[in-house]
Amino acid sequence: MYEKDLVTSITMNQIGISMTSQFIQHHPCTECGSKDNLAEYTNSWYCFGCKYYKKKTDLNSLRERISRSLSNDKIGYPLDTHEKIAPQALKWLLEYNITQEEIDNNGLCWSDPDLLVLYNSPSYWQGRVFSNVTKQKYKSWGMKPILMYGTVDRAVGVVLTEDIVSAICVSRVPNILAIPMLGTSCSRALEKHLQKLDIFTYVWLDSDVRKKAIALKNRLKTLGLSTKAILTDKDPKCYTKEKTEEIL
Ligand SMILES: [Zn+2]
Repeated sequence: MYEKDLVTSITMNQIGISMTSQFIQHHPCTECGSKDNLAEYTNSWYCFGCKYYKKKTDLNSLRERISRSLSNDKIGYPLDTHEKIAPQALKWLLEYNITQEEIDNNGLCWSDPDLLVLYNSPSYWQGRVFSNVTKQKYKSWGMKPILMYGTVDRAVGVVLTEDIVSAICVSRVPNILAIPMLGTSCSRALEKHLQKLDIFTYVWLDSDVRKKAIALKNRLKTLGLSTKAILTDKDPKCYTKEKTEEIL
């Protein structure tokens, strides 16, 4: 996977509409002179070199974002989705105190007959299955993107989680980013992304894979990152914002 293929999603809710923001390309940075550290997203600019950050607020980028989201809705989506999430899935989200606002901001939706869609783009989707006929918990399709929850400009730490709901919960903590690995393994592309972010990296996986969490922490250390594995009895999504703040 090449960096230009990475999709980064930043939670946002500007001008009353919510949508995820995708990575477009790297540019030279006029602030620090770096050749390719300035990342352009659909809604912002961020330099991995000098940490320059700017929201796109002009009308053209607004139009671009809206037309992207509209065309995304029409073509290329492998999943047919709608907003009405089935009661058993809503109940499950409520266990983790996911609010309606978080559902809207992060684009959670439903795909008949049994899928709570946690992320949906033309190149990748993932959902949690609510079904009596299959025991499979998660379904996904496509090339795993790098998704980011929380905003990058003031972040002092990044938390790697396994799943999207955990990432949404963890990113409630101010100045903390969360990246769901969409599984338990960290791709080379994600390692590179973390090196560019260059902030304290927590590895917080579910309680059944403690050894993996420690191995990943050790691996990231050899890449020069300041890092720590967080080992808790429950999954990251099980803790409140306050408790998570205490744990980090
Ligand atoms: Zn720069």
